[in-house]
Amino acid sequence: MSDQKHRVVIVGAGFAGLNAARALRKADADVTVVDRSNHHLFQPLLYQVATGGLSPADISAPVRGLLSKNRNTSVVLANVTGIDVTAHTLETTSGEIAYDSLILATGSTHSYFGNDSWAENAPGLKSLDDATAIRRKVLLAFEAAEQAETEEEREALMTFTVIGGGPTGVELAGAIGELARQTLKNDFRNFDPAATRVLLVEAGERILSTYSESLSPKAEKSLSKIGVEVMTGTLVTEITADGITVKQGESSSWIPSKTVLWAAGVQASPLGRMLADSMQSESDSQVVELDRVGRVPVGPDLTVLGHPEIFVLGDLSSYSHQTGTPLRGTADVAAAQGSHAGKAISRRLKGKSPQKPFKFRDLGKLAVIGRSSAVADLKFLRFGGFLAWQFWLFIHVLKLVGYQNRATVLVQWASSYFTRNRSARLITGKLDWDEIAGSRLAQSADSETPGKDAA
Ligand SMILES: Cc1cc2nc3c(=O)[nH]c(=O)nc-3n(C[C@H](O)[C@H](O)[C@H](O)COP(=O)(O)OP(=O)(O)OC[C@H]3O[C@@H](n4cnc5c(N)ncnc54)[C@H](O)[C@@H]3O)c2cc1C
Repeated sequence: MSDQKHRVVIVGAGFAGLNAARALRKADADVTVVDRSNHHLFQPLLYQVATGGLSPADISAPVRGLLSKNRNTSVVLANVTGIDVTAHTLETTSGEIAYDSLILATGSTHSYFGNDSWAENAPGLKSLDDATAIRRKVLLAFEAAEQAETEEEREALMTFTVIGGGPTGVELAGAIGELARQTLKNDFRNFDPAATRVLLVEAGERILSTYSESLSPKAEKSLSKIGVEVMTGTLVTEITADGITVKQGESSSWIPSKTVLWAAGVQASPLGRMLADSMQSESDSQVVELDRVGRVPVGPDLTVLGHPEIFVLGDLSSYSHQTGTPLRGTADVAAAQGSHAGKAISRRLKGKSPQKPFKFRDLGKLAVIGRSSAVADLKFLRFGGFLAWQFWLFIHVLKLVGYQNRATVLVQWASSYFTRNRSARLITGKLDWDEIAGSRLAQSADSETPGKDAA
């Protein structure tokens, strides 16, 4: 005899996992949410942290706090490292966790299209650590430019390159352009920050290629107003600490650029591969084929073929039953799938008939360009400019998870809108003094004169 309740384990407290847990709040089950970080993160605003517009705490909230009212839910801070679909267990850094129903929602990570060594010189933006590392890299480039001895060196320091012309690349490049031209314009004495070059490099023929075609030129125009040079049809073939090699048609050229940021590709979390391998090693089950970017194909009910107890959601899943092609990896899709899966499990536990197949109500997409322009690609309407920006602002503030975050972000944005200030321009972490004063140290070594006192 056992009075153990049905065990639902949710891996990942992102948009999908969090919404699944919320939908299971009243279920007669023991729900466990496992995440390797202690906070839920609003990734759409990461670029604001990376460029000093918002602080990390403005766009994140502790998972424990968010789920504290779910009496049936416990939170475990652990990294999931393995799945055994036969034994119904997960291997984690905190030991084995058994499940009756499993929700996998571990999102995605950067993809360097097989050039993983580029990661060192071209960091991507996915976590708060990434955002603060990028913020540090960008702000240090300005500091080093102030101390540069040669124009050549200063130019390389003042050339910022963002690779990938999707929404993240557009938002990041726009924010760096504004940081240089508006926020920092009076802050340096040895150079004019307005002379900063911000390059947005895109291999395809247009930026925002998943948006309506009419919006790409609108976005380019808004970007050029804040000093961003858009380079379409341009393939990056090499990235080093000093710059990038690009190929346009048949000709290749070298662009000196000390700050290169990656916004070009994503791949699904490795948990998809772990799931597929575990299913394959099962004696009689069907094989699951991951797609090109490592996503797990799911059925109309969001479960994996042959395993009605395993749901795969959000960026980790490939759901193509609605339009014939996989739904795009967005926060809205992930959140809607989370709610759907949570309700599906609740219904099962109550013995009710299964839910209808998952259907996503696509209301459109938005990308912001600087502090007062955006493009909106809605179902029946496409527009750009200030109105689109106001709409973007409204939607994003509305979607932030906590009331406190919403209030702080609104105050921050109102202040930066009127003052053009980005008050979170903090360089954190241990500094590499040689890197900042690099040219001066090199020069004193060349002329064999004693270096300046480090102080
Ligand atoms: C810079 C950026 C900008 C974006 N802008 C937008 C936008 O404007 N609009 C929009 O709709 N979407 C946007 N997106 C996409 C959106 O954020 C994702 O589609 C969404 O976060 C996917 O939700 P998810 O729940 O699948 O995964 P995530 O939200 O990524 O959550 C995954 C969770 O799983 C946890 N996890 C991962 N691996 C493990 C493991 N092994 N063990 C334990 N826990 C693990 C992670 O810590 C994380 O908490 C943006 C994404 C980025 C990176």
